[in-house]
Amino acid sequence: MSFIKSFELRVKREVERLLSKRERIMVAVSGGKDSATILYLLSKWGYNVIAVIIDLGFKHYKKHVSNVRVLCEELGVELFVVDAVKEVGSVRRLQLINGKSNCYTCGVIKRWLLNRKAKELRVDKLVTGHNLDDYAESVLMNVLMNNHQACLSLGPVAGVISSDLFVQRVKPLSYISEGDILTYAKLKGFRISYDPCPYSSDAFRREVMDLMRLSGFNFSNIVKYFERLKPLIVSKFSRKGLLRECVICGEASKGVVCKACQLIGRSH
Ligand code: SF4
Ligand code: ZN
Repeated sequence: MSFIKSFELRVKREVERLLSKRERIMVAVSGGKDSATILYLLSKWGYNVIAVIIDLGFKHYKKHVSNVRVLCEELGVELFVVDAVKEVGSVRRLQLINGKSNCYTCGVIKRWLLNRKAKELRVDKLVTGHNLDDYAESVLMNVLMNNHQACLSLGPVAGVISSDLFVQRVKPLSYISEGDILTYAKLKGFRISYDPCPYSSDAFRREVMDLMRLSGFNFSNIVKYFERLKPLIVSKFSRKGLLRECVICGEASKGVVCKACQLIGRSH
């Protein structure tokens, strides 16, 4: 069997387990290979998809947005562009002033805007392009930081708290390696950006990935081991019922004010 066929079969198995053709699905696209691959495949297989990109307003992001526009036009998928600067002001400024890592700030803002858009567009599921390497790396980082709470949101179906405040996030590429996705995206000729983000600053994440690659860790084994333990972690640490509406924006929050409003500096 050709690489393309076996790749698609592996993804299809997971897609059929996680998604239904009756659902309205929003794919969070970024201009990279992972989200382009899953958007292309869901559209090819006849799923009811729309795409959303959060335009972070970074200079290099213009190319991402225009690549995504071209891909969506080719696929006939409706694209929504969320202008982060209009919503929260300069993301770059927030990165510089809040004392957290650039990627932390960016991640909080992106998740907040995506969840809001998903609710506004009344979708059933929000799909992201996280791959096996991302999954294994997150597991190891959480182990090294002894962060069991963060472990709860790992895996193909994110989060353990089901709530009307959240649109369920699913990650159908969770068991597909980054290398395979890269090969597939290149063979398919997707117009995507391969340049690293100049603001990527999560040094710890990078160190963990360097260690994993240099030491030849088996990413699948890390994930399998974690998934055997996950039910125990969930039963011990899941804090059902603690989710509430942020008093400022009304989005899901574990505290009185959500992380995004704290970062943006909104007060009540
Ligand atoms: Fe944001 Fe980090 Fe991604 Fe750059 S690499 S877009 S700073 S999350
Ligand atoms: Zn809020």
